Amino acid sequence: MLKKVVIANRGEIALRILRACKELGIKTVAVHSSADRDLMHVRLADESVCIGPAPSPASYLNIPAIISAAEVTDAVAIHPGYGFLAENAAFAEQVEKSGFVFIGPTPDIIRMMGDKVSAIKAMKKAGVPTVPGSDGPITDDNEHTLAVAKRIGYPVIIKAAAGGGGRGMRVVHSEAALLNAVYVTQSEAKAAFGDDTVYIEKFLENPRHVEIQVLADGQGNAIHLGDRDCSLQRRHQKVLEEAPAPGIPDEIRNQVAKSCVDACIAINYRGAGTFEFLYENGQFFFIEMNTRIQVEHPVSEMVTGVDLIRQQLLIAGGEKLSITQDDIKIKGHAFECRINAEDPKTFMPCPGLIKHYHPPGGLGVRVDSHLYSGYTVPPHYDSMIAKIITWGDSREIALSRMRNALDELVVDGIRTNTDLHRDLVRDAAFKEGGVSIHYLEKKLKL
Ligand code: ADP
Repeated sequence: MLKKVVIANRGEIALRILRACKELGIKTVAVHSSADRDLMHVRLADESVCIGPAPSPASYLNIPAIISAAEVTDAVAIHPGYGFLAENAAFAEQVEKSGFVFIGPTPDIIRMMGDKVSAIKAMKKAGVPTVPGSDGPITDDNEHTLAVAKRIGYPVIIKAAAGGGGRGMRVVHSEAALLNAVYVTQSEAKAAFGDDTVYIEKFLENPRHVEIQVLADGQGNAIHLGDRDCSLQRRHQKVLEEAPAPGIPDEIRNQVAKSCVDACIAINYRGAGTFEFLYENGQFFFIEMNTRIQVEHPVSEMVTGVDLIRQQLLIAGGEKLSITQDDIKIKGHAFECRINAEDPKTFMPCPGLIKHYHPPGGLGVRVDSHLYSGYTVPPHYDSMIAKIITWGDSREIALSRMRNALDELVVDGIRTNTDLHRDLVRDAAFKEGGVSIHYLEKKLKL
């Protein structure tokens, strides 16, 4: 068992990790920027170390400062949370080289999955269904590029191998526009990611975003924890998620989940991970793997009863998975609404003092948040301030609990997107289930 863990993150996920550590009797070290002294988990941690000024490059992305904090506090492991350094292979490598445990996969796996071309190659080899595409980088052989796009059929999407966060992608509708679009995406990728490798995929016009949660111990054991639907997105940012994904035949769902487990075994994956897919016309298409815990992990926890962060900590401590696939029974339904400190109309971040905070409660309601009355949301970081999660025996019950929970929530002093969520959980098409990834943006334009 790990004795002491550095929590290299902030906000709700840092608090979430702290709670899991405490349950396991693991000591905690909160590392924080000078703007984050008042964070809830900093108050609750056994120790805390200020690792730099407010801007993340100087603090939460400051690798030497984080490793020094682990050294001076005699910690044994570092949990990266999500965002920041969570999928930075160089960080994982330096953590390990400095003699600490990185709570996540090996640097090699992070690197392989961080490059979408090599990730798709590995997944295809392991039997995971992928999007029809160029099966590798586009070269300067223009004839070949044109032939590839013709074979898959327009529209196609050109994607940067090193892309992330919805950047480095371009949709092309006709042959005439292809080569120029490849060139522009390559130049943009070079500027944004320092790597001009791009590849081509079939552009799916009306897919849903459905992902599979996995856990593996790197010792030959892997399981999946079912799927999540995260189709409600704005600018590729997820807004509201649910588990399980509604309306997918069990046979199709189980088959793709099994292929993910097989892939984990094939690449000897370690830790928690997510296989992201687009789902269209009854078919799954792999787009990328996230080698970390995700924001929306609670919905899977609610329907499986498995504490994913606890499992991450146990696996990092060298334990074998004690849960088998047969132990995983999906029970009921769960939703998660991401509450952001942002203007409900313009979506501009709205940091500031929270004069009064009242979280919802009741049966089947969970709130993952670092907020308290009197807390000031700093302007330097992501605007997410709370996750409201509800569970119910059925999708209808979970959704009605979410309607109540959102109505009860009070965040006074700053603007939030709560009203958007209140509207969404009453939306007829959403209530029906299975809307596509374009649904929210179309609705917002109305
Ligand atoms: P990122 O790493 O930037 O998140 P992804 O590969 O996960 O990139 O793609 C982000 C989003 O872009 C997807 O959720 C989807 O909305 C859209 N997208 C990506 N590939 C395709 C595709 N082949 N067809 C249609 N939409 C796609």
